[in-house]
Amino acid sequence: MSENVLRIAVQKSGRLSEKSLELIRSCGIDFYADGRVLRQRASNFPIEFLFVRDDDIPTYVYDGVADIGIVGKNEFDEKGLELDIVKDLGFSKCRLSIAVPHDFAYDGLKSLEGKRIATSYPNILTKILLENGVSAEPVFVSGSVEITPQVGIADVICDIVSTGTTLRMNGLEEVEQIYFSSAVMISRKGFSSSTDEKASILFRLLERIDAVNLAKNKKYILFNLPAGKLDESAAIIGGLKSPTVTPLMDKNWLSVQAVVSEDRFWSVFEELKGIGAEGILVLDIEKMTE
Ligand code: ATP
Ligand code: ZN
Repeated sequence: MSENVLRIAVQKSGRLSEKSLELIRSCGIDFYADGRVLRQRASNFPIEFLFVRDDDIPTYVYDGVADIGIVGKNEFDEKGLELDIVKDLGFSKCRLSIAVPHDFAYDGLKSLEGKRIATSYPNILTKILLENGVSAEPVFVSGSVEITPQVGIADVICDIVSTGTTLRMNGLEEVEQIYFSSAVMISRKGFSSSTDEKASILFRLLERIDAVNLAKNKKYILFNLPAGKLDESAAIIGGLKSPTVTPLMDKNWLSVQAVVSEDRFWSVFEELKGIGAEGILVLDIEKMTE
């Protein structure tokens, strides 16, 4: 095992796996992952993957088995280990919610006083109940939380929800969203600012992630513009820097290039057409720096 290889723990298979690997691949890092090999070295970047269960990721990072890991913030907070979040990755968004059977008279968290609440996240739940001055009894179950009220193990549940369909199918209703999660990259305390040589590999990785994220939801547009309309087009495009402008053979026209965020794209497109822009070309941006 070489010293200067950054070890990253990612979920072997589950809701985080694909997005985690996609993120690393989008950074131009090549590796092989087929779900059977549990340890894999990337071919063109000093990084090694450990494919593990998501529950184990915080512990592996804490124990130094892995240098960094990608895990849901929910799992990170539930474990409660002293670790750093080096980056919020934004994907695998989900929430922890209180859900109750249809005949449960819910009127705010206070209605949970003295109730049994089944959950896989007793620590997060206990903290939130405490903050709200509610005394209830968390009942730990590691899976199939939705079934617990029907079988009499609990009165209500506190579980991960993304659309609410599973809850409805089990006769439950989401009544309160109490905690929000997305995937985070974690490291042991102080690792990213340490003199550990592997911290510089992490720095390079984070730089690439930032470049990929910055390019996300941005489009590169090119168009021809009547020469007198440049100021107007710059006002439409907005942003901090002026667009790039190239003269054309025909002195009455200019070629303009700019980066536009996708959410504004259609209004920019229509307004540019409105001032006489022609031949508008739109391109995806793969990576970008400020
Ligand atoms: P493992 O076998 O690795 O223990 P698991 O069954 O515990 O997997 P998954 O269901 O794959 O875990 O969820 C992993 C993480 O993905 C969760 O901890 C949460 O952060 C996030 N997640 C869970 N459910 C959803 C969802 N419906 N939508 C988006 N993200 C989710
Ligand atoms: Zn798990």
